[in-house]
Amino acid sequence: MGAPCIHCEARPAADGLGLCADCNSRRETRVLYRRRRGWTPEWEAHLRRLTRRAQLRLPLFDEADQPA
Ligand SMILES: [Zn+2]
Repeated sequence: MGAPCIHCEARPAADGLGLCADCNSRRETRVLYRRRRGWTPEWEAHLRRLTRRAQLRLPLFDEADQPA
């Protein structure tokens, strides 16, 4: 089999994005991963941070991160 899903790592990746069928069926997950060009550890950490914030029901981005 191929690599595990880059999002949940619980099921094998099923498409070119590296997402399993389950994650790929979720629009927000698909949009998140479709934006990547090069996969970097920094980007992955960024995504994990966003996932954590979403789980905690925090805004995805700090207001300080936004341009004024
Ligand atoms: Zn998945």
